[in-house]
Amino acid sequence: MFSESTNNALQIIGCGDAFASGGNFHTCFHLRSGETNILIDCGATTLHGLRRLQIDPDQIDIILISHLHGDHYAGIPFLLMDAAVRKRQRKLKIITPNTGKARIKALLQLLYPGSDKTEQLPVEYIEYKSYEILQLDGIQVQAYPVVHSKAALSHGLRITIGHQVLSYSGDTSWTDNLIPLSDGADLFICECNFYNTSTPTHMNYLDLVSKISQLNFNKILLTHLSEEMLANLDRVDIPVAKDGMTVSF
Ligand SMILES: [Zn+2]
Repeated sequence: MFSESTNNALQIIGCGDAFASGGNFHTCFHLRSGETNILIDCGATTLHGLRRLQIDPDQIDIILISHLHGDHYAGIPFLLMDAAVRKRQRKLKIITPNTGKARIKALLQLLYPGSDKTEQLPVEYIEYKSYEILQLDGIQVQAYPVVHSKAALSHGLRITIGHQVLSYSGDTSWTDNLIPLSDGADLFICECNFYNTSTPTHMNYLDLVSKISQLNFNKILLTHLSEEMLANLDRVDIPVAKDGMTVSF
């Protein structure tokens, strides 16, 4: 489903939490803007999710990573191994928080020890700093620090494509940084791991509802759904993501 006013479309590859709640895949969203294909997060199940939806991984130009937890970036080694086996020629940019390149390479060596198949791939790693604005192939990305895990360098991502803005919270409990992150967004994808459980590391629905008037966006979609959240969907009045669904904005 494409928006009539833009050429941007988003498909949910995975909207699950780290523990496969509801059988959902790990976090990954496929954003298509004109000829550019972007993955927003790339959890361990991403290659499985792409294949299931018949999306060719070779067509992905950019992978954006919000933070360095396995349900958000552990799919990259499998995409790279697949690309190496198929002798990918198309360039790929992998955008991560600081240290992302070293962590991905270490992960590759742990999963496929001794393999150097991926070394020849046309991959460029770019590591962002908090609040830095990156210009990438017609899109602009700005990463806002959020409240989840300091060790995983957790960020939300504000992605500007032409006049359109897609904001994504990453994994986080409530933080006032969500206000500028989502300000004026055409689509705000917000993690909502829990319905009413309060933790310092994830959002819960009741907390979000109590603060949502502080946010300014056009559309919102909730993601990163735990069993608790899935069990309470009949009490949720905000649109919720589903694996495979498409969203226009
Ligand atoms: Zn997560």
